[in-house]
Amino acid sequence: MNFLEERILSDGIVKEGNVLKVDSFLNHQMDIGLFDQMGAEFKRRFADTPVTKILTIEASGIGIACLAARHFQVPVIFAKKSKSINLEGDMYVAEVESFTHKCKNNVIVAQKFLNSQDHILIIDDFLANGCALQGLIQIVQMAGAAVSGIGIAVEKGFQPGGQIIRNLGFQLESLAIVESMDAETGVITFREQA
Ligand code: 5GP
Repeated sequence: MNFLEERILSDGIVKEGNVLKVDSFLNHQMDIGLFDQMGAEFKRRFADTPVTKILTIEASGIGIACLAARHFQVPVIFAKKSKSINLEGDMYVAEVESFTHKCKNNVIVAQKFLNSQDHILIIDDFLANGCALQGLIQIVQMAGAAVSGIGIAVEKGFQPGGQIIRNLGFQLESLAIVESMDAETGVITFREQA
């Protein structure tokens, strides 16, 4: 079991509705030492991959992306979320459905921060149905940039996002893949990874 899986077992809470609450160390209070370890692990897994920028989405991806960026020595761009449909001008916009909030948001990145020379590593905290990632991938592709890979802290392996993204041919590295979780017993199991 790796360091993140151990932390999820000790501090994660399984909620009804397939939600894993990790707000004591990941997406409300943040354990920066843990984020730094995650950043080092992403760097190890993407060691041979060109990366010019890291792209994430507000808010929970930002902290993880920033610590990862110290290991890659590249800037971080975070996509902004907005409900407004009157977005135009020099922005890339993709529509994303939120798993936790059950609503649709636009995710937006200013065109000046992405260009066709960029090799983008996408980082996020959770992968569930893959909607957030597909929005970020669309934005990278709109810019004519390359998706170098995708790094996720916690993938919920029993939801379809991981399979969808891997089937699209991207290198997707999830530090913990939850195979099953039970809100009644609190039992969490992880997928074995090489
Ligand atoms: P997706 O778009 O893959 O369905 O969901 C990804 C987003 O939903 C993540 O960025 C994360 O913010 C949120 N999310 C999905 N599942 C969970 C969960 O079980 N726990 C928490 N804390 N956030 C989740």
